[in-house]
Amino acid sequence: MDYSDKISKQLATVSRSGIRDFFELVQGREDVISLGVGEPDFATPWHIREAAIYSLENGQTSYTSNLGLLKLRRRISDYVRGFFRVSYSYEDEVLVTVGVSEAIDLALRALLNPGDEVIYHEPCYVSYSPSIAMAYGVAVPVATRKEDGFSLKAEDLEAVITERSRVLMLNFPTNPTGAVADVGDLEEIAALCIKHDLVVLTDEIYSELIYDAVEHTSIASLDGMKERCVLLHGFSKAFAMTGFRLGYACAPGPIIDAMMKIHQYSMLCAPVTSQVAAIEALEHGAASIVRMKEAYHQRRDYMVRRLQQMGVECHVPGGAFYVFPDIRKFGLSSKEFAMRLLEETSVAAVPGDAFGESGEGFLRCCYATSMEEIVEAMDRLEAFVRKF
Ligand code: PLP
Repeated sequence: MDYSDKISKQLATVSRSGIRDFFELVQGREDVISLGVGEPDFATPWHIREAAIYSLENGQTSYTSNLGLLKLRRRISDYVRGFFRVSYSYEDEVLVTVGVSEAIDLALRALLNPGDEVIYHEPCYVSYSPSIAMAYGVAVPVATRKEDGFSLKAEDLEAVITERSRVLMLNFPTNPTGAVADVGDLEEIAALCIKHDLVVLTDEIYSELIYDAVEHTSIASLDGMKERCVLLHGFSKAFAMTGFRLGYACAPGPIIDAMMKIHQYSMLCAPVTSQVAAIEALEHGAASIVRMKEAYHQRRDYMVRRLQQMGVECHVPGGAFYVFPDIRKFGLSSKEFAMRLLEETSVAAVPGDAFGESGEGFLRCCYATSMEEIVEAMDRLEAFVRKF
């Protein structure tokens, strides 16, 4: 059968993830050290896994409320108030989702009409542009620069705002650059959002993973911003719970209501076992976050130091678990560099262009892997760059 006219035309505008393409090449090779996949190398802390197991033993295997377990929404509301300094009612301003991934999709589908423009800073997480397209929006990337620590500058944002601009997506700390937003920049961005009546989706998934004693500020906590923000967060990164697939959205009631309409028909609810585990994570997981964060911090410092020592320019990323070295001086495209690195040294890192055009000339190296592997990967990379 010819399927070309059977598949949605809208999907034709969506390309495959550059990360997936690259990692298909890695599969089946045993000697590879991977700095590629953006997920914690730690198993979920035992007390969280145990809570999940115990709930299964107790036969807690049913659907939950569409919004999520009441107890979990209460804990989320408390956590968000304490950590982000924004208050959301657990009754109608919190929605538990299947990862931040689902929350992004719901928020975009709930907010956009066909042709609405969504602005986001780039390089960025691979799902943003496709998620916008799948919600019939128009993706408007704004390039950020290494010289600015990859923070978004208000003047660059203002330059792309049009009559059709409706949503701004932010992600600080940023995947793939590790950028942390400067509070002054955030205040200027917030003023622009108010002036141009933009809704902000703020993807806070790495917000616990900030180093150098900088305190995290969410744009949702700035004056006048709560009413126009959808705060997206989850358990995948800081709690090392990627496989539990649990996230949440906090937003004003009418936006949560609209997101709920889609969620209740497409997902019904997030898995109950994961919701029980998430309650345990929020009640007793703080020490585990600190322990993992210390390990990431050490690895980041080591990786940045090694890169700089071997003559590879690299800004110091303030958060998340990625470094984003500048490889332009080697005269290869980021894809060529990553391919040769893989073929000649069996180290896998993601070409920067997988994160948008402005990522060209960079490489994403994830340090959520063991220190031994990082040391070996840096030794191999050093031998590789000496050839140039
Ligand atoms: N947002 C960003 C910036 C990410 O890097 C990721 C995963 O890598 C996600 C969202 C997806 O998170 P989740 O596992 O909660 O769906």
